[in-house]
Amino acid sequence: MPRAEPPPPYLPGAPHFAYCDGELWVEGLRVADLAREHGTPLFVYSVAAMRAAVAAYQRGLQGRDALICYAMKANSTLAILEVFARAGCGFDIVSGGELERALRAGAAPERIVFSGVGKTRAEMRRALQVGIGCFNVESRAELDVLDAVARELGVRAPVSLRVNPDVDAQTHPYISTGLKGNKFGIAHDEALDAYRHAASLSGLSVVGIDCHIGSQITSIGPYLDALDRVLDLVEAIEAAGIPLHHLDLGGGLGIEYHGEQPPAADALWQAMLARLDARGHGRRRLLLEPGRSLVGNAGICVTQVLYTKPGAAKNFLIVDAAMNDLPRPAMYEAWHAIAPVRPRADVPARTWDVVGPVCESGDWLGRDRELAAQPGDLLAVGSAGAYCMSMASHYNTRGKAAEVLVSGARAQLIRARETVADLWRQERALALD
Ligand SMILES: *Cc1c(COP(=O)(O)O)cnc(C)c1O
Repeated sequence: MPRAEPPPPYLPGAPHFAYCDGELWVEGLRVADLAREHGTPLFVYSVAAMRAAVAAYQRGLQGRDALICYAMKANSTLAILEVFARAGCGFDIVSGGELERALRAGAAPERIVFSGVGKTRAEMRRALQVGIGCFNVESRAELDVLDAVARELGVRAPVSLRVNPDVDAQTHPYISTGLKGNKFGIAHDEALDAYRHAASLSGLSVVGIDCHIGSQITSIGPYLDALDRVLDLVEAIEAAGIPLHHLDLGGGLGIEYHGEQPPAADALWQAMLARLDARGHGRRRLLLEPGRSLVGNAGICVTQVLYTKPGAAKNFLIVDAAMNDLPRPAMYEAWHAIAPVRPRADVPARTWDVVGPVCESGDWLGRDRELAAQPGDLLAVGSAGAYCMSMASHYNTRGKAAEVLVSGARAQLIRARETVADLWRQERALALD
């Protein structure tokens, strides 16, 4: 009997990265050609994939007063931000550095919301001076500091309180944020009191309410539970005479890394809008803060095999990308697809641990992967658009990878590979005896 052909590899959730004529393409370009021109490790992003992800949210929210604020910590490279700004997105930021990036990418300040538990006075001042749309305040203490900073500047700071609805997002504990006992938000049962306090401060203007329950959420249930809890609060806060102009329902929608089946953004929002309508809140302005679901599957990381190292207990495939480029496996034991750029039938497939050159046993990209590969071959690490480059480090004095953006049959280098001189530019030679 003829041996069954192995199924062609594919990258989960990433239809803009597809195999044709025996090799991986991104939109209208060969991934191998990009790697030859720009070297590896190389992040490659598809503009069409990002636009399709935004369009799914826009479809779901059609006819509503809604603003999609891209949570830029997922991937904050300037050209990526420009893609989202041009697609009509605002931005969710979590630092002064992200504020400057958003402005540099051409974001309208009033379309920026500022989240995060540890905003400094300097960050607040700058955000007030440029006129951002809303501060998502995470504690009573922050309310008082923001009030003081705004009064010093003679302005009123627009605020939402981030409330913690105490629902389980059923995701990894490190990326679950809506449960009692984590550092985010104001507890549900303290929220009304905090709103009364906010409304009493002359440097603040209460404009909305905010919640964000976690990341990589793969079912609608936790969202509906959080929405119900937030609407209960909205009703109580407005009954106390404090009108809320907008509802910010955060981000967190998951993507397919490895068989997950998260709802599509439009399906999620149809369900959310139905619940909002049923409770009589359908005409309220909505803000969303999606990050991962807009970029995660719009990017891959291309890496080259350096060595094969078969062993008694484990076979190692040593590649030129590492935990400093792709930190999620080391941080969360996350799973990324790893697929050959040019699948080959001339060497037998074996089971490999795919690891990088960094001197840590935690430096692995994938474990027990069936691959036919030899030194010099290119591999594509899937779902690498979100929380990879933005979390990359210089550990082991490794410069950050280059990034290329592809639209149709055109490619643009959007971040040059860092040189060693870039890495020590801020350092000073020893001047003491
Ligand atoms: C990280 C974060 C987001 C985005 O989360 P994703 O899971 O990437 O969609 C949104 N809002 C806040 C406050 C965040 O911290």
